[in-house]
Amino acid sequence: MPKRLDNLIDGRPQAPADARYLDVFEPATGAVFAHCPDSAAADVEAAVQAARRAAPGWAATPVEQRARLLDRLADLVEARLDEFAALESRDSGKPVKLARSVDIPRAVSNLRHFAAAIATWGSESHAMETGTPGAGAVNLTLRRPLGVVGCISPWNLPLYLFTWKIAPALAAGNAVVAKPSEITPCTAARLGELSIEAGFPPGVLNIVQGRGPTVGQAIVEHPAVKAVSFTGSTATGARIAAVAAPQFKKVSLELGGKNPAIVFADADLSDANLDTIVRSGFANQGEICLCGSRLLVQRSIYEAFRERYLARVRALRVGDPDDEASDLGALVSKPHFDKVMACIARARDEGGRVLVGGEAVAVPRRCARGWFVAPTVIEGLPNEAATNQQEIFGPVVTLIPFEDEADALALANGTGYGLAASLWTRDLSRAHRLAAQLDFGIVWINCWMLRDLRTPFGGVKHSGLGREGGTEALRFFTEPKNVCIRY
Ligand code: NAD
Repeated sequence: MPKRLDNLIDGRPQAPADARYLDVFEPATGAVFAHCPDSAAADVEAAVQAARRAAPGWAATPVEQRARLLDRLADLVEARLDEFAALESRDSGKPVKLARSVDIPRAVSNLRHFAAAIATWGSESHAMETGTPGAGAVNLTLRRPLGVVGCISPWNLPLYLFTWKIAPALAAGNAVVAKPSEITPCTAARLGELSIEAGFPPGVLNIVQGRGPTVGQAIVEHPAVKAVSFTGSTATGARIAAVAAPQFKKVSLELGGKNPAIVFADADLSDANLDTIVRSGFANQGEICLCGSRLLVQRSIYEAFRERYLARVRALRVGDPDDEASDLGALVSKPHFDKVMACIARARDEGGRVLVGGEAVAVPRRCARGWFVAPTVIEGLPNEAATNQQEIFGPVVTLIPFEDEADALALANGTGYGLAASLWTRDLSRAHRLAAQLDFGIVWINCWMLRDLRTPFGGVKHSGLGREGGTEALRFFTEPKNVCIRY
């Protein structure tokens, strides 16, 4: 029997008011394995009211106690690493080994990181210089929690990104109304159950499951929700910004990407680095906003590089996510599978040559009806082609040759997105020069997805607005008030 998930409202698991549910599919088998509340505005209202009641008490709770509860929740998740990894893999299609080594440990780190960060966070003070009209005054900046905040997350890294939002929001003293993706609701629901066990006061963390245009929209529209932290597609981000703007509501928007990986002829292309370049395109079936889907390679090494790269891509194993040998699992849903296959067909129509992959993969036995796509590499398309401009969010990488530094920069920046770029070179001066000119929120040099949780995370252009991570997130979830004292 598929499991029925609950909402978490006012510290209790609750069925949706209308008793309506959505099917949750296991991507590897195509079968329904859970039912997710198809909540309505009434459920959001109940959650917001619970959060409003809880907010003053939570804001007044000593930082040490807030941090202790976040740490306790981290301990409870960590003690269930295998259970969470299996659930995340089943819900999203990703290999269980990836969920066990990346998604769940990172969710634990998020909770621990913000527990520690809030304990050491201070606010600024500015003494006014002597000899100026304001001499003999000091400014101190108070940072207060906002009250009730909304956190809306996507399906690709379900618990990882859910905790990336709720941890700083809670640490900073806000009551939270959160909505995970309706496509991957399971691990957030389990986290909600554990938050009761951890001892969070009722109403401090509320999780309302359901669809974006109903639950998500109701959270964004609600006047008592003072800020919305959102990660998802650029189209949804634009809708959220439009709804939030007339209320002058704070928004943090982490959106899509079309990221370049730039390989110069002088790069150290050791086996380990080549493995990282391959991983940067295909990790999590390419369903990471940070994946490098445009691989720019200097022409002088293009052919030699291509052969080594393709050999590695051909060696990637697509298979049952439960199988420890699988490098790629299933795509998250049938509509997403159809979208990725349509993008590959479009690339062919545009004149692209599929060098490897380009088709669905039949995985036998229990996965015979799953949504698997082969890692696909395409060449021969100009940067202006739709394939090179629009986010595919699947295991599809295009190879693009470039001549020199100026050419590489123009190609890399020649997109409407600006989330992350990676750059492979041994030339330190070039690395600095390009890092300063690449129009992206994140630049990795000779590495990819190396994350220090204290650093600002986010994109420019259509990749978003605002930054998450470390003190950036704590600033977002608080309101500064400057107090100027003359003495
Ligand atoms: P999505 O925009 O469809 O959904 C994201 C979340 O928003 C879901 O919880 C959804 O239910 C909700 N939602 C949908 N419509 C809404 C509305 N009108 N109002 C409020 N909420 C609404 O995105 P997705 O398909 O779940 O995720 C994939 C996208 O997320 C990709 O574009 C990817 O690049 C992006 N992403 C970005 C980052 C980043 O940090 N920049 C990280 C991961 C994923």
